[in-house]
Amino acid sequence: MKGRKLLMIPGPIEFTPEVLQAMGAPTTSHVAPNFIAAFGQALERLRQVFLCPDGQPFIVAGSGTLAMDMAAANLVEPGDRVLVVNTGVFGDRFVAILERYGATVAQVRAPAIGDAPSLEEVEEALKGGGYKLMTVTHVDTSTGVAVEVKGLAALGRAYGALVVVDGVCAVAGEEMRQGEWGIDLALTASQKAIGVPPGLALLVAGPRAMEAFRRRKSPVGSYYVDWANWLPIMEAYEARQPSYFGTPPVNLIGALNVSLGQILEEGMEARSARHRRLSEALKAAVAALGMEQVPVRPEVAANTLTAPYFPEGVDRGVLAYAKEAGVIVAGGLHPAIKDRYFRVGHMGAVSASDILATVGAIEQGLAQVGYRFEPGAGLAAAQAVLARGT
Ligand SMILES: *Cc1c(COP(=O)(O)O)cnc(C)c1O
Repeated sequence: MKGRKLLMIPGPIEFTPEVLQAMGAPTTSHVAPNFIAAFGQALERLRQVFLCPDGQPFIVAGSGTLAMDMAAANLVEPGDRVLVVNTGVFGDRFVAILERYGATVAQVRAPAIGDAPSLEEVEEALKGGGYKLMTVTHVDTSTGVAVEVKGLAALGRAYGALVVVDGVCAVAGEEMRQGEWGIDLALTASQKAIGVPPGLALLVAGPRAMEAFRRRKSPVGSYYVDWANWLPIMEAYEARQPSYFGTPPVNLIGALNVSLGQILEEGMEARSARHRRLSEALKAAVAALGMEQVPVRPEVAANTLTAPYFPEGVDRGVLAYAKEAGVIVAGGLHPAIKDRYFRVGHMGAVSASDILATVGAIEQGLAQVGYRFEPGAGLAAAQAVLARGT
């Protein structure tokens, strides 16, 4: 029997064979011509994936949290006012990071876990005024809540705030047009919808963000993330010149270049449409099996993950049976509801058959714990959505 399990968590995800092959290639020098070419191309492709033609990309060793840290450290000066649109654990994390760099943070929170603040509520908060920066979590991985980034970015801009989007669970899965939507900085990490093993922090800063950085009066409070150190490196590699500040993770960047090529080959619109359709299929299955979801309405639910509540009388023990049936899903993360729900990641190279395998494994788990349902009900609901096409 095949021992391999299907990994359906919100990062790390399943990677394509080509990406894994790049990870296993002999490691070259960070100034070898083929690596310089790959790094340069990855920077150009990052701009295309973020749909931000005039943005400045940064590719740095680290996780998504480092990308958040880099955004805050370079854009915030002590005493700056920042508004955080908070839809879960990663909104809380941004508050902590921003405060570490001396920001005075105000928050707009959703009325309940699983909801998102309305545009009106955010506008009301922005009117209070004087915000240099507004941060938004595109998809909060703790709740599966997606916010309306386009509308929020327009509002932030209208009130003179730089708009920063934590897209760690969204970029290359959810639709995001950084340039067109006026997002000043968007960030992600390699292991989510970008489809590369963990280890890279990825950011694209628009012209207004770079201008705010250049006009800083105080030095950046962290040496490693200071754009003054990284900007010359990114510019050099993009000009296909060797450069050095900190040794780049050669294999990860090679793998990133391969994955970005695959993403662009699929096309950004086709890619977000595929994520939407597969998400609808899984969510239809969850509903058919009698499970509620953490997001309170379909309009605030992400396409990159699904967060179902366990049905009455079922607990996280069911996840071990799903794993035995071949599919690994994630437990809860939000502290207030941690034991009451689980999370299924479906991003990157995920396919319709992955969704069906996942629903099948969840059904087998539910059957094992004695939950009463019609076997195959989830599969039928998922198939019905998949048969509809895009
Ligand atoms: C995963 C995630 C992070 C943190 O990324 P790490 O790579 O785990 O540091 C931040 N924000 C969101 C929305 C995430 O999903």
